[in-house]
Amino acid sequence: MKSLKSTTPTQSSRQRADLSNFTPEQKLEHRRAQWRKFDAKPERKARKAVTNKAYYDANLTSVERREAKAEYLKTWRRDNPVKERDGKLRQNYGITLQERDALLEVQGFVCAICAAEVPGGRGDWHTDHCHSSGLVRGILCQHCNLMLGHARDNTDTLARAITYLGK
Ligand SMILES: [Zn+2]
Repeated sequence: MKSLKSTTPTQSSRQRADLSNFTPEQKLEHRRAQWRKFDAKPERKARKAVTNKAYYDANLTSVERREAKAEYLKTWRRDNPVKERDGKLRQNYGITLQERDALLEVQGFVCAICAAEVPGGRGDWHTDHCHSSGLVRGILCQHCNLMLGHARDNTDTLARAITYLGK
């Protein structure tokens, strides 16, 4: 039976690999793999997180840097309105601008509730989502989106409002 000491992973991994038969590319790839392994170690990740945070804190306290970043983002948003919209939709609702437009097309390019042809408000359609499931329900105009919000998505409240208006 082999001794436990000679088969422990730490022992074997510490031995240098024989690279004599490797091509220069293979050697490079081997070194890169070793580096990735080293870089992925939890203690190294933790150390990097501390260093990065210190760097970030030190630089973000600089007013100039913060202002420069804000200025850059402002310009970027102005120059990339489509990407900006797409990014917001992805972030807030998990859908792309293309998917939003596809939903609107299915609705016939009108509000899913009142059939308005224009979104109102600031001029963009509202992506309505269920607050409990997070799923997108449809595309609404500004008024209908506010209506659901004000009624807190409560169907009883909305039904009573219909009864109330009918009396
Ligand atoms: Zn509407």
